[in-house]
Amino acid sequence: MKARALIFVASAAVTSVLFINLCGTIFQCGCESLWGAGATHCNIHAAHGRHCPWCAVSVYWQAAIFGTILAAQGLVAFGPWVKSPWMRLIGAVAAFPATGLGLGLLFGWFTQYWAH
Ligand SMILES: [Zn+2]
Repeated sequence: MKARALIFVASAAVTSVLFINLCGTIFQCGCESLWGAGATHCNIHAAHGRHCPWCAVSVYWQAAIFGTILAAQGLVAFGPWVKSPWMRLIGAVAAFPATGLGLGLLFGWFTQYWAH
C-alpha cells in the first residue's frame, strides 16, 4: 500500500510540474514551463484572437481538469489492474498526458478553439 501511495505522489508531482507544458503543447497558446515564463506569454493576455481554454476558464474548472488527471493517475496507482510496481509507475505517469490530451481536445472542441 505504501508503494502505491509513493507511486501516486510521484506521478502527481510530474503532473503538477509539467501541467502548464501540456497546456502550451496542446493549445500552442504561448504557455511555457514553470521554470520559464509560465503563463506570461499565454494568448489569454491578448485583447483579441483566441484564448487558450485551460487558462481562460475559472480556477474551479482548472481544478476540475487537474483533479480529473490526478484521479486517472490514482486509478492506475491504486487499482488492481497493474501488478508490477514499475509498470504501475509508468502507467500512472502516462495517465497524465493521456488524460490531459483527452481533456484538452474536449475543451478545445467545446470552445471551438481550433475553429478560428
Ligand atoms: Zn495557456
